[in-house]
Amino acid sequence: ASGYTLLRDPHFNKGLAFAEKERDALYLRGLLPPVTVSQDLQVKKLMHNIRQYQVPLQRYMAMMDLQERNERLFYKLLIDNVEELLPVVYTPTVGEACEKYGSILRRPQGLFISLKEKGKILEVLKNWPEKKIQVIVVTDGERILGLGDLGCQGMGIPVGKLSLYTALGGIRPSACLPVTIDVGTNNENLLNDEFYIGLRQRRARGQEYAELLNEFMSAVKQKYGEKVLIQFEDFANHNAFDLLAKYGSTHLVFNDDIQGTASVVLAGIMAALKLVGGSLAEQKFLFLGAGEAGTGIAELIALEMSKQTDIPLEETRKNIWLVDSKGLIVRSRFKTLQHFKKPWAHEHEPVRDIVDAVKAIRPTVLIGSSGVGRTFTKDVVEAMASFNEKPVIFALSNPTSQSECTAEEAYKWSKGRAIYASGSPFDAVTYNGKVYVSGQANNAYIFPGLGLGLIISGAIRVHDDMLLAASEALAAEVTQENLDKGLIFPPFTNIRKISSHIAAKVAAKAYELGLATRLPQPKDLVAYAESCMYSPSYRTYR
Ligand code: NAP
Ligand code: MN
Repeated sequence: ASGYTLLRDPHFNKGLAFAEKERDALYLRGLLPPVTVSQDLQVKKLMHNIRQYQVPLQRYMAMMDLQERNERLFYKLLIDNVEELLPVVYTPTVGEACEKYGSILRRPQGLFISLKEKGKILEVLKNWPEKKIQVIVVTDGERILGLGDLGCQGMGIPVGKLSLYTALGGIRPSACLPVTIDVGTNNENLLNDEFYIGLRQRRARGQEYAELLNEFMSAVKQKYGEKVLIQFEDFANHNAFDLLAKYGSTHLVFNDDIQGTASVVLAGIMAALKLVGGSLAEQKFLFLGAGEAGTGIAELIALEMSKQTDIPLEETRKNIWLVDSKGLIVRSRFKTLQHFKKPWAHEHEPVRDIVDAVKAIRPTVLIGSSGVGRTFTKDVVEAMASFNEKPVIFALSNPTSQSECTAEEAYKWSKGRAIYASGSPFDAVTYNGKVYVSGQANNAYIFPGLGLGLIISGAIRVHDDMLLAASEALAAEVTQENLDKGLIFPPFTNIRKISSHIAAKVAAKAYELGLATRLPQPKDLVAYAESCMYSPSYRTYR
């Protein structure tokens, strides 16, 4: 290839970092200004540039431009500045990017599979330039973050998640495939938007939907084999649970909204118990929101309780209560409940709002997962603080505007006694002279390490015990120093190390369960995980 083409290939391009010898050997003389710089200096310059942009979406676009121009530099930048750039390439900024995807899209990243491709999905996969795929993140765009149905413009989500698989979990970029399934959208604004990039029709449902998904799942297995990880992302809950159940026994599938959230929140609870005291089974849980996040977390907690105590799952579930848009989920509502809520319909009189539910159930842990902001009011937090020495409060709803309560409110209203974590990040809070640092229950703690663990062990199925292993591994990374500040998640700066530990625990579980195919089992799984991780440092070309 000519030097000119090389500079335009994001996999090879190093920009001003091409060394003198490379410039000679690769026909680059004259195509670059005379200076040669290090990758670190390029990182420094780019961070300087990105910080100039005040509008988050501009930062996002600068990152996307870089990804298309110089892939290794993109990942180096992201890894070296993970806390600052995570909110740019993922929530909350990626949400805005999806809303405007039609206008900001330059070069499509990932595969678009619409109803037009029905019957040809295997051929579509063959159009993708990379042949060895290890992780696919797929969405149908129906429930993008807390933003609802964004149709085909949901593509920003698989693209963003996969860049985190690489940056945080060390999966090679070429092994990652973002996919958006387009079966239409019910978003009227998009249907009427002349710049909308997706199919201009209402969503296909029922058999038509199921057939397209089935063709996709079969084609993927045929093309990439049994060990490709397929992560379902941001599907609406009326499809998410069913897809996971349907393909869980035939494919290596994982739903981050249900399972990843569950694993990260359970880790936070395990860490919080070191501050609160008592065992998991001694806690009582109340959720506001009984969808993918709420019931997913509830089920994993009940499973862990059951494992710790030998009490049957049906019994441990009774320590966990959920409230949905119609009030407390109780036995008398059983018949009309969606199937994923039925296990939580315990015997109790109906309760309409969350304050009354808190007073009636008296939970030790309160978890917000409804997507509705400002719902943990002063009354709610004060009630939690009235019968708990250290009330544990998770405000998971995203983005920040939807938080059930802010960190400051939680500390103020509980007089500094709350153990608080949230879905969107909050700055440290000073209350009565003490500094409180709240944790972010970000799924990005779990899924990259989990994916790495599955890949390095050659796992062929995801098992709930792997999620529990991931939770334990994450909770173990929280230090006493973190806990002293009220922080129940470790800082993100060490995320690649955390991911390697999660990967090792997940892989160990895969071997234990007989689900691993990479034999023999490596002796030191942490070291092996680290050795498998992609490094974004430049290579030297001859
Ligand atoms: P979902 O499946 O649509 O579930 C939402 C649930 O909230 C439903 O049970 C719904 O009730 C209930 N709800 C809605 N409005 C309510 C209200 N006014 N009062 C009480 N309950 C109400 O959504 P999801 O996937 O679980 O996500 C929910 C939220 O969690 C989103 O904001 C998301 O961003 C956040 N989340 C955070 C994390 C994290 O922090 N790591 C991870 C995942 C999700 P009905 O069933 O009656 O409609
Ligand atoms: Mn999601």
